[in-house]
Amino acid sequence: MFFPIDKIRSEFPILHQQIYNRPLVYFDNAASTQKPVQVIDAIRHYYEHDNCNIHRGVHYLSMKATEAYEEARKEIREFINARSTHEIIFTKGATESLNLVASSFGKRYIKPGDEVISTIMEHHSSFVPWQQMCLEHGAGFRVAGINERGELDLDELYGMINEKTRLIVLTHVSNVLGTINPVKEIIAVAHRNNIPVLIDGAQGVSHLQVDMQDLDCDFYCFSGHKMYAPMGIGVLYGKEKYLEELPPYQLGGEMIKEVYVDHTTFNELPFKFEAGTPNVEGVAGLRAAVHYLKELGMENIAMYEENLLKYASGKLANLDGMKIYGTAVHKTSLISFLIGDIHPYDVGTIIDKMGIAVRTGHHCAMPLMNYLKIPGTVRASFAFYNTLQEIDLLVSAIVKAKKMLE
Ligand code: PLP
Repeated sequence: MFFPIDKIRSEFPILHQQIYNRPLVYFDNAASTQKPVQVIDAIRHYYEHDNCNIHRGVHYLSMKATEAYEEARKEIREFINARSTHEIIFTKGATESLNLVASSFGKRYIKPGDEVISTIMEHHSSFVPWQQMCLEHGAGFRVAGINERGELDLDELYGMINEKTRLIVLTHVSNVLGTINPVKEIIAVAHRNNIPVLIDGAQGVSHLQVDMQDLDCDFYCFSGHKMYAPMGIGVLYGKEKYLEELPPYQLGGEMIKEVYVDHTTFNELPFKFEAGTPNVEGVAGLRAAVHYLKELGMENIAMYEENLLKYASGKLANLDGMKIYGTAVHKTSLISFLIGDIHPYDVGTIIDKMGIAVRTGHHCAMPLMNYLKIPGTVRASFAFYNTLQEIDLLVSAIVKAKKMLE
């Protein structure tokens, strides 16, 4: 397969810098990805040509900005194959999307004694809103575990389903283990029991082709900044039948139809969930990022990244004292590891001075760290602009760090 890696790398200006007199090697893509010039240019173009508050303006710029914003919504709909643009809500990111559903779903559907099922591999952004929502409404919060490869224990998960279950919430891909969960199968089982499912796709959309109608999930969310788009913009997908029934999350301009002294009627979808002036610049950047990903092709990206993962896994697994957390059969291009009893921060700090950016710590997944009985890991996460040569640099940096620390 031909993958135009040189051209791709030339489109990411930030990668071409020296830090500590060494070329920057960026392996912190699960935290946030870098932005191609196409995305940077789209934001610049927006401010140079289109900037204006959107909706209801009768003047040229307002209509132009509104049109671009709504065109972007159509393209996001197409990108994830949702049925309707009514199902695409622009948010600040995955965290806001998750809080929105936890708050509104909790108010509408959750009663004392009900249960929500989730998993031990959730990011705090998903774990904490559901945990707190359950505490608030007197509901039970049940959490399924994983096997030794870091794959979800499906028997345990399915065994938790009962007549009290109101929702199943899980991540598409673990940000610590890289595990790709069999979400389509889980959704089918949940639906046979009339239970809706929310998928946290924050680590999914940048690696996998996602299709809302094929998955048949009820809610799906993601952040722009993890898929080569700007920070502060994200998406909540929700089936229209649920979004129609849920109460609004935030109140204010844009989300209303009519306001009187004694009552207010709410706007139609998707505006009911988009209170206030939205992040129009972010939407312009997100649209450009979606174009970029479509042009590269999600299948090509997945193939290229799988090769990076295989290469890195093989090299790292051979190092003395190396323990890799997350060896699922289906996983995305990230590797979490510890070496002997060396603290992850020490490894991260030393290899940073060699120009290599990895993430260290609990990765916003403390329940998982407690389950694994470790304080944290070193996480190297790869994107399609990374190379095998960079992985070689990582491996030799780890060997040097290990020598220094032992
Ligand atoms: N869910 C997962 C699996 C994540 O990895 C992250 C971020 O790392 C989030 C949710 C939260 O994303 P954001 O901080 O962009 O809202």
